Amino acid sequence: MATAMVFKVVHPEELRPGQFPAQSSGEKRLAPTLSAGYSPQTERGVEIVSDVLVVGAGFFGAVVAERLAAGAGLRVTLIDKRAHLGGQCYSRVDPETGVECHAYGSHIFHTSNEVVWNYLQRFARFNGYRHVVHTKYRNRVYTMPINLGTINAFYGCSLEPREVAAFLQREVEQAGLKKPPANLEEQAVALLGRPLYEAFIQGYTRKQWEADPRQLPADLITRLPVRHNYNTRYYDDLYEGIPWDGYARLFERLLDHPRIELKLDTNFFELGARRKDYALVVYSGPLDQYFQYSAGRLEWRTLRFDVRRHPEPDAQGCAVMNYADPEIPFTRIHEFKHFHPERRPTLTTITYTEYSRGAGPEDEPYYPVNTPRNMELLRKYQALARGEERVVFGGRLGSYQYLDMDDAVAQALVAAERIIRQPP
Ligand SMILES: Cc1cc2nc3c(=O)[nH]c(=O)nc-3n(C[C@H](O)[C@H](O)[C@H](O)COP(=O)(O)OP(=O)(O)OC[C@H]3O[C@@H](n4cnc5c(N)ncnc54)[C@H](O)[C@@H]3O)c2cc1C
Repeated sequence: MATAMVFKVVHPEELRPGQFPAQSSGEKRLAPTLSAGYSPQTERGVEIVSDVLVVGAGFFGAVVAERLAAGAGLRVTLIDKRAHLGGQCYSRVDPETGVECHAYGSHIFHTSNEVVWNYLQRFARFNGYRHVVHTKYRNRVYTMPINLGTINAFYGCSLEPREVAAFLQREVEQAGLKKPPANLEEQAVALLGRPLYEAFIQGYTRKQWEADPRQLPADLITRLPVRHNYNTRYYDDLYEGIPWDGYARLFERLLDHPRIELKLDTNFFELGARRKDYALVVYSGPLDQYFQYSAGRLEWRTLRFDVRRHPEPDAQGCAVMNYADPEIPFTRIHEFKHFHPERRPTLTTITYTEYSRGAGPEDEPYYPVNTPRNMELLRKYQALARGEERVVFGGRLGSYQYLDMDDAVAQALVAAERIIRQPP
């Protein structure tokens, strides 16, 4: 959040009909549209730009734009360099199979935040999908996170819930760790014992990070959830689901407002001097890029998807199947049709096979990399951001943080509220 934002929110009742707030010396005031359909261009005979430029049409940018336009009467221009709304959450129907695919990997909405949930109900109905992750290891299928069913199937036993803690304790003791965990492997073994680590963590982690778990820091995992019962739900949030008619429609409804102007295929860094036309910029692009990588590049992991269409109605029987064997080069396969059990079944299906690797300069950034070097760089960029007037940074790219969708919405609601309350 910028420290010195010099702008003023003027409420419609402060204005006489036809009057716009004056622009004082060098200070642009935020001028709300008086009513839908009112055209300041024709009234004043000069080009009026929006009050606020929002960069990025993902959840963060879209929610800020909606709140400032619908909640505070501001005129907002929302740009995205991509050709679609929704950022990483974008979904589209594959014309060949009729299956709605999540273009950047599976996105399951889940939250226990009542404010976020109630807010989104205005723009989407969510179906009753409950996420369960399956994992293949040595040709057998288990459910994740590790639960009593996983443990019993893996060890070929029938433990009761009350026996799980002592069982795992014995497994950990057998591993014979002598000192506090010094790397990710030791950390995981100290929590699960060696056999479960080798089956479910070792190979998957190696593929996810392209690194030996012994070379990765221990604090990459602080805890590994192990359920002592047969609960196979991946999330334990109060609310969960997939937008009934897709993420794309959710974003269309969110941004369908007369005071929001949308400009897709528009890159912030190609706006040049036009950036100065706005009283405030809300930026949800990459933080380091905003500052031209002056302190160095923040590292990201990226994903590549191999898309396959199948002539049968069901390829794997679930939405996400993880692959834990180290010899299999991909991490998981997504079959999106399972996100919508309520929809009419299709005769064919489509899968995305996911491969993980370090992101190069041209790659889409997916996951931030939490190393000491990156955290140090982040602190430098945060300091630069604090000195930037009239710019609010946010979202997963603008804060270099993994955010679930509900976190991004919550962050946006707070940011919009602060902007609205900022005194002149
Ligand atoms: C693989 C993966 C799976 C995920 N699965 C889940 C899940 O199941 N559940 C969940 O809750 N969350 C999930 N998430 C997290 C979710 O994607 C984020 O919470 C969400 O995308 C955050 O929204 P955002 O607006 O911050 O960022 P984004 O959605 O990334 O939006 C940022 C937008 O800014 C645009 N932009 C960037 N630079 C510029 C520029 N220079 N000019 C113009 N536009 C620009 C980008 O094109 C992008 O559209 C997942 C994330 C990943 C990576």
